[in-house]
Amino acid sequence: MVKKYVLYGKVVTIILCIGLFFATLLRLLYPLYSKKHYYPKDSFRFPKDIIRPTPTDAPIHIPILMYHYVEYVKDKGDRIRIGLNIPRNIFEEQIKTLVEASYSAIFMNDVADALDGKVTLPQKPVVLTFDDGYGDFYTDVFPILKKYNIKAVNYVISEVLGKKNYMTREQVQEIDKSGLVEVASHTTSHVNLKLVPLSVARKEIFQSKIDLEELVGHTVFNFAYPYGAFTASVAGYVKEAQYRTAVTVLPGTWHHEQDRYYLERIRPGYNTGNTLLKLLEKEDKK
Ligand SMILES: [Zn+2]
Repeated sequence: MVKKYVLYGKVVTIILCIGLFFATLLRLLYPLYSKKHYYPKDSFRFPKDIIRPTPTDAPIHIPILMYHYVEYVKDKGDRIRIGLNIPRNIFEEQIKTLVEASYSAIFMNDVADALDGKVTLPQKPVVLTFDDGYGDFYTDVFPILKKYNIKAVNYVISEVLGKKNYMTREQVQEIDKSGLVEVASHTTSHVNLKLVPLSVARKEIFQSKIDLEELVGHTVFNFAYPYGAFTASVAGYVKEAQYRTAVTVLPGTWHHEQDRYYLERIRPGYNTGNTLLKLLEKEDKK
């Protein structure tokens, strides 16, 4: 009888150990999986349902840099955050590189003006775009922007303001008033606009504009697709809502007027100095 219980005990222990082994394995592997899949694969392919005629205008060269987090990530298990992060000192080095190479940081509104043919841009324009409106933009990026008197654009998700990791409503008002930051829209709740019903996509695009305009007290002109996901219908809503431009995660630095709702960006990564400058200039004219 006792032997039987000892045997049961052993079997249960073995089952628990196997369970624990797989749970640990899953916990270790999941962040790698989720990091790999933060952007759906098709975010890096131009949607097939959009037809682009051969452009007739001369392309404009404007590197639009894409940032997410700028901070020191304490949780080494947070692979998504680490993958999207650039440490503050590297970001400052990148700003120094741009300043020393005589780049002028401009807003997306200036890009829109240039695409409209309304203005001539400075000789070496660059746009620093930050997605998602994270709290570290206010604590880590904004002080550096002020220090170097550099402009940036923040694509804010209107319904998450004040939540953990995100800027508060007051902080968004403050960066907007500073004249150094253009507040732009990144939907109301960061849905994948390709996967939700069209009525939801439309509401996310229209409502975020209304909410942000109420917050900052003036028109919000520009938009970024969450996960870089868009279709012809989605881009159509962005136009209908009277945004002037929309950025994607497709790579590139040369822009045509007809691409104003699918502008390409580049990721600066950890590059500084000449490697960063080469990255901004490497692409051929379209
Ligand atoms: Zn985003």
